[in-house]
Amino acid sequence: MGKKNKQFVEKITAMEDDFAQWYTDVVKQADLVDYGQVRGTMIIKPYGYAIWENIKDELDRKIKQTGHSNVAFPMFIPESLLQKEKDHVVGFAPEVAWVTHGGDEELAERIAVRPTSEVLFCDYYSKNIHSYRDLPKLYNQWANVVRWEKTTRPFLRSSEFHWQEGHTAHATDEDAAKETDRMLGVYADLVENYLAVPVLKGRKTDKEKFAGAKYTLTIESLMHDGKALQSGTSHHFGSGFAEAFDITYLDENGESQFAHQTSWGLSTRIMGALIMVHGDNRGLVVPPRIAPTQAMIVPIAQHKEGVLDKAYTLRDQLQDLVRVDIDGSDKMPGWKFNEYEMKGIPVRIEMGPKDIEKEQVVLVRRDTGEKEFVALHDLEARLPLLLEEIQSNLYQKALDHRNEMTSVATNMEEFKQTLDQKGGFIKAMWCGDVACEEKIKEETTATSRCIPFEQETVADTCVCCGKEAKEMVYWAKAY
Ligand SMILES: [Zn+2]
Repeated sequence: MGKKNKQFVEKITAMEDDFAQWYTDVVKQADLVDYGQVRGTMIIKPYGYAIWENIKDELDRKIKQTGHSNVAFPMFIPESLLQKEKDHVVGFAPEVAWVTHGGDEELAERIAVRPTSEVLFCDYYSKNIHSYRDLPKLYNQWANVVRWEKTTRPFLRSSEFHWQEGHTAHATDEDAAKETDRMLGVYADLVENYLAVPVLKGRKTDKEKFAGAKYTLTIESLMHDGKALQSGTSHHFGSGFAEAFDITYLDENGESQFAHQTSWGLSTRIMGALIMVHGDNRGLVVPPRIAPTQAMIVPIAQHKEGVLDKAYTLRDQLQDLVRVDIDGSDKMPGWKFNEYEMKGIPVRIEMGPKDIEKEQVVLVRRDTGEKEFVALHDLEARLPLLLEEIQSNLYQKALDHRNEMTSVATNMEEFKQTLDQKGGFIKAMWCGDVACEEKIKEETTATSRCIPFEQETVADTCVCCGKEAKEMVYWAKAY
């Protein structure tokens, strides 16, 4: 490795030395974000936004496929409206940013910048739902929201972030429950099959559920450092919000009923999962299905006659097959190798005078670093296959890691020891008492991540109090 290349690689901290610093370095060096002028805000740069757009486009397709329509609601909420649902306002109050003035004039009523939009949709539904024929209402919006966070990190926790929020209204509790399940399934499919991140599906405890919800479903994933990340949530509201906002409809018998509602959201936080699940000491690793550029052509000895022409011809040939790009700049090949490894581009295609002579190219995988010589006439068959191999390898690696980092604890001693020495998910039984959940958090800083749909009996008694256990819970330190 040349001196220049070495220096380039040294720009990022090794993840073993300082994972948090590694994360910050990758975010910066892979050119994903920059910091905004107001503390905790971020500028998502072209490469970061291109990845988010691919995630967004795929999710948007699935949201529409499941019968939802996109809408755009205002970003402002009058204070009186926000206060209508008691639990909801208590849950969000500490993070709300307020507008108090219009120009120089003080407003008669403070206006909240939306931290989430439940109340706006509820207000709208109360005026627009009258009959059972008006149901279901299946709305979604792509929006930015503001939560005044004390400690912030790009993608993981920022004062302003981007997301989609689905808000639906249904005739029955059962219909709303089905919707809550369906959208959690959509999230799990997206995150597992496109982002190659395995997820645990389950229900949040009452302590961890969304403010104002009857229950919250979640997908939880495990980062490389053994901490969990909540990756998408789907909430069943029952008729709680409908009662607070008077959302009623006349059923088929002409009787007045409350509507039943859901909401669900997936945000730019998922970019954090992408970075922390797949990344390594050379930078980002982007799964092929969401990579803005799946293959990058790097011409070798491009000053030699014919090399650049051939490389551009190859780019044109492959363009309909995969998302391919070429770097024909006069930077050194070594610099280019490092740059596109840092950006996590799944495959590098090298082509030099000798390859041209032999009618071949060299394919280099970002995930394993493996090199492969492929004849030009085989490339169109091989490249898409290779991308799929990388996609499934990334998923498998992440799944192996999660399995390795999942332990069982049957008492608090074991719980603490495992968490300190190993981290990761801890499967432990719980009595259902919030006092135990709080005690575990206080003593270990681990929180309940979810009560998984796939239950196991790993003991008969609660890991904390020793009383009879009700459910198995996944616990972890979390972002
Ligand atoms: Zn207990």
